[in-house]
Amino acid sequence: MKTKNSHLTVALLIGIVTLFSCADEKKDSEIAESEKTEYVLVIHGGAGTMSRERMTDEHEQEFRAALNEALEAGEAILKSGGSSLEAVKEAILIMEDSPLFNAGKGAVFTNKKTVELDASIMDGKTLNAGAIAAVSDIKNPILAAFEVMDHSEHVLLAGDGASLFAKERGLEIVENSYFHTATRLEAVERQIEAEKDSKHGTVGAVALDREGNLAAGTSTGGRSNKKYGRIGDSPIIGAGNYANNMTCAVSGTGHGEYFMRYVVGYDISALMEYQKMSLKEAADLVVHKKLIEAGGEGGIIAVDKDGNVAMPFNTSGMYRGYVKSSGEKEIAIFK
Ligand code: ASP
Repeated sequence: MKTKNSHLTVALLIGIVTLFSCADEKKDSEIAESEKTEYVLVIHGGAGTMSRERMTDEHEQEFRAALNEALEAGEAILKSGGSSLEAVKEAILIMEDSPLFNAGKGAVFTNKKTVELDASIMDGKTLNAGAIAAVSDIKNPILAAFEVMDHSEHVLLAGDGASLFAKERGLEIVENSYFHTATRLEAVERQIEAEKDSKHGTVGAVALDREGNLAAGTSTGGRSNKKYGRIGDSPIIGAGNYANNMTCAVSGTGHGEYFMRYVVGYDISALMEYQKMSLKEAADLVVHKKLIEAGGEGGIIAVDKDGNVAMPFNTSGMYRGYVKSSGEKEIAIFK
């Protein structure tokens, strides 16, 4: 009887301990769940040589307000359960329509004093992608990139063919002069004189949505005083733009020729996939070591599948910002 009783007591005790430990485990997983980032949006408005001293307060405020507007537009989509693709699209549309950035209106000029635009979009879930290059009349290049992804069997369309396709898909077509701004014209005239090209300012956005899907989008006028017909890294999947749900989403800005040769976006993803690096380690290695050693100026924005954000750049500044479901938010320009 005594043995039976003590067996019962032991069983009871084990039961109670198990119950408590289960409760503990449940609590742990609930905490992990509630702390998990539900969504993230990261944007950039280009990297380049910018000095705090030379930028007026007013100009800085203008950039910050535009970045904030783009973040808010994209976040509204993610907050209401919309997709990372839609969020990236909305954020980029705001920056394409702003004359402040080198994408859509306000893009830089070629050496022929025309504007030629490149853009791309990538879906991290399906690895579908769409891009357009060297187009001169599509008002919002990012929309054309979406059309190529969703409504053609191709990944990249260029020049007149891309414009024709965009027109067929019902996108708004404008005169090249729509993109022109006095600031960019002065810049290219100075550069033509000095025979050099420069000036970055591409825009980009990457996002993670509540479903765990990643997306990356990039849109640019390229480099000021670039050769007519030159295509940069921004519409090249894997170079200036890449997304893969297994790893991360990346959008780049900087000297595109280096981003293409060093396959920057895919390299960051591959370092995570095959070398098991964290997003930060991979992004820092590419931007602060590989690109610097090669002489490639620029930066990237990225978000990984767990919601970690990286925004490294090796220039003096990069217009950038991010917002997370936790309410964490940052907008910055200089180092
Ligand atoms: N990466 C772009 C290009 O080379 C330019 C930039 O980001 O500033 O076309």
